[in-house]
This record gives sequence, C-alpha cells and structure tokens, in this order.
Amino acid sequence: ADFSQAGLHPVMLKNVQLSGYSVPTPIQRYCLPAIRLGYDVVAVAQTGSGKTAAYLIPIINKLMGKAKKLAAPRPNPATYQEGVDPPVRAEPLVCIVVPTRELAVQVFNEARKFCYRTMLRPCVVYGGGPFGEQARQLQRGCDVLVATPGRLKHFMAEPHLLTFHRLRFMVIDEADEMLQEDWKEELDTIMSGGEQEEGNINYMLFSATFPKAARDLAKTHMAETHLQLR
Ligand code: AMP
Repeated sequence: ADFSQAGLHPVMLKNVQLSGYSVPTPIQRYCLPAIRLGYDVVAVAQTGSGKTAAYLIPIINKLMGKAKKLAAPRPNPATYQEGVDPPVRAEPLVCIVVPTRELAVQVFNEARKFCYRTMLRPCVVYGGGPFGEQARQLQRGCDVLVATPGRLKHFMAEPHLLTFHRLRFMVIDEADEMLQEDWKEELDTIMSGGEQEEGNINYMLFSATFPKAARDLAKTHMAETHLQLR
C-alpha cells in the first residue's frame, strides 16, 4: 500500500508526495495507525528507517483538521514591533527532543516540509545557538518545536517564553543517545513538564537500543497501554 491509501488529509498527502515518498517504510506502516488511534508508542528505530517521517506525518496529520483552531497565538508580522508590542510566548502543540544540533536541524527541515500549507509553524532551538535569537523565533509563533534537551530545559524555566499547557504530542527521538550523554535528568524534567498540564499528551519514544535507562523513561512517563514496535 502507498501513502495515498493511508487516510491522510489531502494537504498532508500532497506534502508527502512533494517529499518524494510514495511507499511507507515498515516503521511508518506501524506508526501511522498507532498514532492515529491515540496510542503512546515505544519503537526500536535505527537512523535510516524513516523514523522521523514515521512520527511527523501522523502527528501533523492529526492536528491538521483542527489547525486553524489550534495554531498558536502569534503576532501579525505586518504590524508587530519588536520590543514595543508585548512578547508572545510559545505554546507548542508538539515537542520533539533530539540529542544533537545536527539532528534538530534535520528534523526541523523535515517538519517544515510536512507543515507546508498548514497553519502549523515549526521552530528549532538547540544548545550552542544564540538564545536571544531563538527566543525571538519562538515568539513569532511555534506549533511544532524541535529541541535539544539542555536548551529546551533552559527555555522551559522561562514560562514567559515557553509553556507546555497546549502540548498534545511529545517525541523523544534517539533516547539511548541522549541517555548516554547523561541527559537523564533533563529528560525527566522535560517529560514531566507536560504532565503537570491538564490535557492529554501522547508520548512517543524512539531508540536504536533499549538499555534499562530507556525502559525506565518509558515506564515512568508513558501510558501503560503503549504500543511496542520493533
Ligand atoms: P530517518 O530514518 O528519519 O533519518 O530517514 C532516513 C531517510 O529516508 C531520510 O533521508 C528520509 O528523507 C528518507 N525517507 C523517509 N521515509 C521515506 C519513504 N517513505 N520513502 C522514501 N524515503 C523516505
């Protein structure tokens, strides 16, 4: 079966086709229905498996029908005066946490393709980049946030810049890499940052390997009924 039979919104289907994808990879075949049905997902996924699109396509697709209503508050770019008008804080619907700046930019670029002609605006923040400029990007409106863990925790500590109170999806990508880099504490803070809020958040955890630390992360923060894909 190809993507045209996956029940995608026509705008999303067009974006998928523009990306040059016609047939879903195995992980995409599992994730599309699982995410549509509202499961939390734990997946064993290597780079190259198509894991990025496996979460981006169904998540963005799910938000699309409601994009107009859900899209984050944002200033009118025609009239907004930096430093004069009050800043708008970022209230993303989706947060994707990745281990490196390179991967963050890669996922952001993929998110841009799938958000094309939707009301959803992607943003990226990472460690080592200019904090002030990233904050200004967030303030221009942010629906899909891609972030590295240290910088994300930093922004989460500034609730006038970023809150998770509208968050619907959180993706932890390459969890094993982040745990190896000793980001466990940040990941716990980030994952429970959404839990304090009211709405229902779907968690997805992708990892090439599943050491105890990764299993603990899933056990602590994710629904009991999550689907395990491999
Ligand atoms: P990833 O595993 O997400 O890093 O993706 C690996 C590569 O596969 C990327 O270059 C994607 O653009 C590409 N890709 C992902 N899904 C598909 C698909 N269904 N058909 C063809 N290429 C794909």
